[in-house]
Amino acid sequence: MSRIAYVNGRYVPMRDAKVHIEDRGFQFADGVYEVCEVRGGRLIDERRHIERLQRSLKEIRIRMPMSVAALGVVLREMIARNRIGYGIVYLQVNRGVARRDHAFPSVPVTPSVIATARSLNLARNEASAGKGIAIISVPDNRWGRVDIKTVGLLPNVLARQAAIDQGAREAWFVDEDGLITEGASTNAWIVTPSGALVTRQADQAILRGITRTVVLDAIKAQGLTVEERAFSLDEARGAREAFVTSASQIVLPVVRIDGHAIGDGKPGPVAMALRREFYRYAEVS
Ligand code: PLP
Repeated sequence: MSRIAYVNGRYVPMRDAKVHIEDRGFQFADGVYEVCEVRGGRLIDERRHIERLQRSLKEIRIRMPMSVAALGVVLREMIARNRIGYGIVYLQVNRGVARRDHAFPSVPVTPSVIATARSLNLARNEASAGKGIAIISVPDNRWGRVDIKTVGLLPNVLARQAAIDQGAREAWFVDEDGLITEGASTNAWIVTPSGALVTRQADQAILRGITRTVVLDAIKAQGLTVEERAFSLDEARGAREAFVTSASQIVLPVVRIDGHAIGDGKPGPVAMALRREFYRYAEVS
């Protein structure tokens, strides 16, 4: 079965899914995106993802291309047409097509909207979580507004590739003060020796992950101690546990940082419990 994409109002086979070469998303990374998990053919945390999309659009002054309800229809059509049971839906909105010029088009253009969907392998993801992942640290050389979910991801791409080249799965960005901001496509967490969960405060230095928000809800509901603050690489090395969160992996334990074992070098119980509990706190629609 051929994969189906959504491009500016049409559902088309992937091979026919094309955008204009003067689309500003292509030339300037002038666009934003969302990735939403699909489980049992249903969207996980759709409302929060669409709210974050609206915020990202507002921050870079692109108008919402269609109503929230219409976007919901597109996402569901993508799930149905691609027969996704477990997987992800990707949605991208660019400023639109205009003759190349850095400033916004003087005559407003129609935003471009594209979506894709793909299945993920549940057994493979569970096996990864069961083993835990290795990560590396890299300097955070991104721009100052990574709280906006733009498609300008080159530093994230290079960081992830550096991780793969070193036999790891993810990279954690470290700021000029030696403090971890987040992963290339994940939020970063540790469990301190005294059992507190720590993740960086959601300011302009990190993306406010939807999974991070739901995990915070789960932690608070269970009465665990949480500290939203920055932590250093040294503190992470001495942590009892570490893990990352993202819509496509939910909670993934980290067992090595720069080759150094975390805790006993195995996935920690807190991370694994949060991974199991996550869906009690997420919204399914
Ligand atoms: N941080 C970055 C840089 C990301 O790209 C992502 C997801 O793509 C996340 C964090 C996690 O966000 P979410 O939980 O909404 O997937």
